[in-house]
Amino acid sequence: MSDRPLLMIPGPVELSPGVAAAAARPPPSHVSPELIAAFGESIRGLREIFGCGPEGVPLVLAGSGTLAMEAAATNLLGPGRTALVVSTGYFGDRMAEIIRRTGAAAETLSVTPGALPEPAAVEAKLEQLRPFALFFTHVDTSTGVRVDAQALAALGRRHGALVVSDGVCATGGEPLIAHEAGVDVHLTASQKALGLPPGLALLSFSPRALEARRTRQGLPPLFLDVESWRPIHEAYEQGRPSYFATPATSLIFALREGVRELLSARHGALTGLPAVWARHARAARAIRAALQVAGLSFVPTEPSAWASTLTAPLLPPGVPPTLPATIARHGVLVAGGLHPAIRERYFRIGHMGWAATQPLLLRRTVVAVLEGLAAHGHRSDGPAALVALERAWDEG
Ligand code: PMP
Repeated sequence: MSDRPLLMIPGPVELSPGVAAAAARPPPSHVSPELIAAFGESIRGLREIFGCGPEGVPLVLAGSGTLAMEAAATNLLGPGRTALVVSTGYFGDRMAEIIRRTGAAAETLSVTPGALPEPAAVEAKLEQLRPFALFFTHVDTSTGVRVDAQALAALGRRHGALVVSDGVCATGGEPLIAHEAGVDVHLTASQKALGLPPGLALLSFSPRALEARRTRQGLPPLFLDVESWRPIHEAYEQGRPSYFATPATSLIFALREGVRELLSARHGALTGLPAVWARHARAARAIRAALQVAGLSFVPTEPSAWASTLTAPLLPPGVPPTLPATIARHGVLVAGGLHPAIRERYFRIGHMGWAATQPLLLRRTVVAVLEGLAAHGHRSDGPAALVALERAWDEG
């Protein structure tokens, strides 16, 4: 192991040895048989992970999560269409800005940072606005709030809206098969709970979403157009070479390995996605049990909103927002606050992907956090916190 710090921010994340090895392979040609095989297998895996079935269209684009947000918005929306964005933080607000730049109207239903949206308020807005599409963020990385994606998707559907879910900080870590829950466009990125390096924007379209693209006023930007990529992905899935724009070939090897690891995961009697979700839930419970013993509380107000992918602890009295820099001196990188309204009052710990399966790394993280807090005068019972971590871990 190198002496680089342990990466426990909410993405990018530590890689499993298998994914790291796959990502380090020299880039193949985008039309080589080995690349086509890896791309095809990845697309088939994503159909399972997103639940989009044979009639849906999964896309793998070179880019970050924001590109996936742009692609989702611009294929569905344009001048003359209206969207409702349920915003639980920074990334919901970004989504609204992206929507407005397509020429569509965006209305935001925002909650206080840390709160969950009230279903009745969402319903009232849907009734009043009758939007073409409803957008929400499954886990907003700026607050650590996880919404009830299933319930929001059902609400949107019931009011005739297309449903778009941002799963950038959730997919692979939070229980959801998006399209089975009624989502029409699901989007995510490689560098979080899927456990891959940054660089891939991943999303999927339902038949209703494809129809919305067809009836959209004007064409979306060429690179973001699902119809530019659809024939290419179909070719790859059928084992044929094809070209529209050069894919991130080395990352496709990493993606195939990551998808394999995810779909073959085991946790107790669970296998595949439910096993991976349970592993993330266990890591989250263990980290939070330790931090609670150390006297910390969290930005999301209700435990039902606590994400499995990251924890957003409030800074105890007297501890400055520079805490992450102090923690970094103990060999672990965590992140500072991101939500502009509360930026100085909390910090964030990611527990996603491979690191969420490694109790020693979680322990190292808690030790570094407690050392950092102690350096700023917040004393806690470290041994008791570590016992709580281990107990919660052992509960499985
Ligand atoms: N949505 C959410 C929920 C995110 O957490 C992020 C990244 N932190 C994004 C969108 C944007 O992704 P990226 O930084 O990869 O562009």
